[in-house]
Amino acid sequence: MTRTPSSPSSSCGTCDRPDCSAKAPRPGEGEAEFVERRELEARLCRIRHRIVVLSGKGGVGKSTVAVNLAAGLLQEGHTVGLLDVDLHGPSIPTMLGLERQRLGGNDREIHPADVGGLKVVSIGFFLSSPDDAVIWRGPLKMGAIKQFLKDVAWGDLDFLVIDSPPGTGDEPLSVCQLIGRLDGAVIVTTPQRVAAVDVRKSITFCRHLQVPVLGVVENMSGFACPKCGEVTQIFRTGGGRRIAEDMGIAFLGSIPLDPALADSGDGGEPFLRRHADSPTAERLRRLIRPIAALAAAEQRPA
Ligand code: ADP
Repeated sequence: MTRTPSSPSSSCGTCDRPDCSAKAPRPGEGEAEFVERRELEARLCRIRHRIVVLSGKGGVGKSTVAVNLAAGLLQEGHTVGLLDVDLHGPSIPTMLGLERQRLGGNDREIHPADVGGLKVVSIGFFLSSPDDAVIWRGPLKMGAIKQFLKDVAWGDLDFLVIDSPPGTGDEPLSVCQLIGRLDGAVIVTTPQRVAAVDVRKSITFCRHLQVPVLGVVENMSGFACPKCGEVTQIFRTGGGRRIAEDMGIAFLGSIPLDPALADSGDGGEPFLRRHADSPTAERLRRLIRPIAALAAAEQRPA
């Protein structure tokens, strides 16, 4: 993934804003650093809304939510990118049927994959086999994430949805530090206390980094009968809602355990596309609404 940097004298040409932070070097910033920052900002300033999907634990459905959030925003007519920086367990390629995908590009930029209009980049595309493991320390991970943000030709996007690894480690930290202005984080949990306790850590992490929390999603909340769609509560539910209330943040909604949702993930197609008319799809669309409203709010006259 070696790219040729642009010359320091060339204009980034993205915007004419007099307050653009990429117009001039910051005090103490070296030339190479400035060129790199300007390239990063030139890409990012074409992305109107940046959403990171976080979870305290693995396996709670964070990637499932990220894929369907991206698919739902696309279905509403937005231009959407999906970036998978779950360096240790990239599941987006499987969930979108892109397991053997390789990306095109040239010496200046990488072209994202296109799945029915959704632009997708995953670390999984750069591994020689799905069994490969990424064994990198913090600075390498930060470098890879920076490259995804700086060198990928996302173009003009209404939304970039970023699927981050679970926890509060290097990758979510790198995303939050590099991306500048994040619209906010969607935090996914399951109803059980053991998962919900970690959500508090994710919320605290966002608060430290001044990343707004858009809300909590409680996934695997009850079981949706494949025959009639009725949701049966098999474990205690409501953990996500309680934490959201306790910590003064929005509760976006709950998603039941639905075998069709797991099948869609394994089958490489977003559930919202494959089962658009199901009750679970309706629940997913409901929890996406406040996020889609970010774009509507921006278009409304002041
Ligand atoms: P994470 O990103 O948090 O590790 P994933 O989104 O990869 O979790 O989900 C883990 C597994 O659980 C996947 O096989 C996914 O298809 C499945 N899954 C997630 N949410 C649901 C759900 N509500 N109903 C059924 N299966 C689900």
